[in-house]
Amino acid sequence: NSVTDEVPEPKRKQNRNEETAENVWRPRFGFENAPDTDPSLSANRAWGRAILERSKTTELGIQLLEENQLASTDEVEPLIDSVIEASKAWGAKSGKERADVLRKVAINLGVRRADLLEVMAAEAGKTLDQGDTEVSEAIDFANYYAELAEAVEQVDGATHKPVNLTLVVPPWNFPTAIPTGGVLAALAAGSGVIFKPATNTARTGAVIADILWEAGVPREVVRLIKVSDREAGKQLISSPKVDRLILTGGYETAETFRSWRKDLPLFGETSGKNAIIVTPNADLDLAVKDVVYSAFGHAGQKCSAASTVILVGTVATSKRFRNQLLDAVSSLHVSYPQDVETQMGPIIAPAEGKLLRGLTTLGEGEEWAIKPKQLDDSGKLWSPGVRYGVKPGSEYHLTEYFGPILGVMTADTLEEAIELQNATDYGLTAGLHSLDSDELALWLSKVQAGNLYVNRGITGAIVRRQPFGGWKKSTVGSGTKAGGPNYLVALSDWETKPSQA
Ligand code: GLU
Repeated sequence: NSVTDEVPEPKRKQNRNEETAENVWRPRFGFENAPDTDPSLSANRAWGRAILERSKTTELGIQLLEENQLASTDEVEPLIDSVIEASKAWGAKSGKERADVLRKVAINLGVRRADLLEVMAAEAGKTLDQGDTEVSEAIDFANYYAELAEAVEQVDGATHKPVNLTLVVPPWNFPTAIPTGGVLAALAAGSGVIFKPATNTARTGAVIADILWEAGVPREVVRLIKVSDREAGKQLISSPKVDRLILTGGYETAETFRSWRKDLPLFGETSGKNAIIVTPNADLDLAVKDVVYSAFGHAGQKCSAASTVILVGTVATSKRFRNQLLDAVSSLHVSYPQDVETQMGPIIAPAEGKLLRGLTTLGEGEEWAIKPKQLDDSGKLWSPGVRYGVKPGSEYHLTEYFGPILGVMTADTLEEAIELQNATDYGLTAGLHSLDSDELALWLSKVQAGNLYVNRGITGAIVRRQPFGGWKKSTVGSGTKAGGPNYLVALSDWETKPSQA
């Protein structure tokens, strides 16, 4: 770095260390997606190193969590009633007033980007680049839902009526973007919120709550709750006073919640088992890069991750493709995020059950092209694995593993590949790598997934550009996509306006 460190930096780049509430990035021309941190700027690399250093001993979020526990069933009703009470004044505000608060939240998220990266590196094993895109996405949710807060009041022929209480139950794999998105959508629609962060990443949740409160969201309107009593959690989720429940998590979790309350008004983004098809008409170099990133970003712990790549025709027998893919995977630097070289971090908890099986056993006819290895005693650090010879209908083909494993399948034709891609119970993301427009048209007419990506990785949906949500068992409940124009409509109640005529 010593040479580039001397080069003066162009002014247009964001030096994160210099960002304050006054000069932090914000949209200037209506809605714009927030830029990620530019690591080519030496000041940003120094900023990142300091964050990772702090993450070793960080205490962020701890105290707030201690202060916000749901520890017994007696506390559930008073909690719910207090949020419903506070939500009345919030819901009575105009969309513009709520939007102003959300735009302040966006600014605050930018100013406290470093805090979020620090706590995510500490408790979620998030590398800086993976955490950074999450903070940008959270800022996007704030700015986009601010616009929608104003728009939702203008819907033709109907009067917007905020609901009282939305419960937000996010996952640990995107501990910043997903909770921020859910909480802000509900707030923008005028609802009060109970926010229960995932147990593994509750401290990140606490920092988010702090950022919201600091921006002017009343503490009574968004309650942060760490559930330390299972029965109380169940009672909260099944309460008939909950108007909407935003859940991101496994399909089974969604079904369990529904078994507790049959009429649960659920916005469930659930599991995925996603594949990328690569045809002989693809840019194969680009395909390798996108497959590797989609499969191993955040160690494969994304509902959107590529678990399978389906190679068509000559790609299936191409030595060049195979070598490039395996070279790319085996050169990933695997370690904890505190090591600045890390490209793939740990999994959230020691591998067990289904994931451990996926990392250690093969199905019939399968072979390890790269065998995953457990790298230390924690059980969390695994090198990535690539298995060839995955057979149609096999356990690997149909099961979600949520970890750093990629399975390779082959097909003679694109039609056959699409059948393999559609064969699972899920339908969250799907990818096609091909530069041929007839192939693209065929694929689009047949593929069954909520988010489709062509000549791009299949993770990292961008707010507004790629509203995110699934099909089949990848969604439970409303099916309305997050980060898209209808989300606030679905999070609200409506009264038909009497006709003017
Ligand atoms: N929105 C994320 C993405 O597009 C995935 C969310 C998830 O894994 O739950 O990669």
